[in-house]
Amino acid sequence: MKVARTIKSVRSKVAAARSKGKKIGFVPTMGAFHIGHISLIEAAVKKCDFVVVSIFVNPTQFGPGEDFKKYPRTFDADLNICRKAGVDLVFAPTKEQMYSEENLTWVNVEKLTDSLCGQFRKGHFRGVATVCAKLFNIVAPDIAFFGQKDAQQAIVIKRMVADLNMPLKIVVCPTVRQPDGLAVSSRNQYLTEQQKKDAAYVYKSLQKCQEMINADIKDTRKIITRMRKVLSQAPSIKIEYISIVDAETLQTIDHIAGKVLAAVAVRIGPARLIDNILVDSAKH
Ligand code: AMP
Repeated sequence: MKVARTIKSVRSKVAAARSKGKKIGFVPTMGAFHIGHISLIEAAVKKCDFVVVSIFVNPTQFGPGEDFKKYPRTFDADLNICRKAGVDLVFAPTKEQMYSEENLTWVNVEKLTDSLCGQFRKGHFRGVATVCAKLFNIVAPDIAFFGQKDAQQAIVIKRMVADLNMPLKIVVCPTVRQPDGLAVSSRNQYLTEQQKKDAAYVYKSLQKCQEMINADIKDTRKIITRMRKVLSQAPSIKIEYISIVDAETLQTIDHIAGKVLAAVAVRIGPARLIDNILVDSAKH
């Protein structure tokens, strides 16, 4: 496995692999690997012949007062995980390598970034879309792998790729959870043991939503009220939002129909946690 620090070095290594007819897989990350990241890497290794993982804590997707500075950085452990998983190339650029002193070009995906996390993290998806566009231009993958855990991010990136005619495919992999249902996240490290127990109620609230849709309950207000009740059992949880939206447009819906995304964002102690489920109501 090679580690590249510069754009030039990534480009030449990927070009060499491509010239041998290899299919290039790419997993963009911010490091601090857990089993969620590993599942994406494994999917890439399975589907592609040459796998690139980027590790870059992207400053432009953090707002003022967010956790950019204290975001966990575990570079050596991350490299070991990549090595064991069969990654071919890790791209770990500096901020200076990725951004000039004054970045003037940004990618804004409209509408899809207005709801859910977009309401609470102004500029977040602009930072995410911009860094992904840059990484796609640098790595030039055939397939890039994202997690369903960040559902809005995956939808925004898919739309950017379609709208800007980028020549790659986006694959979205299922959310990896702990046995108690808590979606694994680098930010779970911020939690105490008690807070981790409370955090499991986030998924319990989503299961309640699934259960109610299965029981043919259509009124989203009714469902959200019950989800709120589930979350209220966890004393340390402060709800940021509970939303049920159309899975394609991400617009709020009053009645369950077709494919819907139920998404929750909470604050627990120092952490902001998000989770979601996709439900195809037509199947019930
Ligand atoms: P991050 O390092 O947090 O930017 O995440 C890198 C990628 O890993 C993103 O595509 C995330 O959606 C994905 N990811 C993070 N946590 C999970 C999880 N629990 N299950 C599946 N994918 C995940």
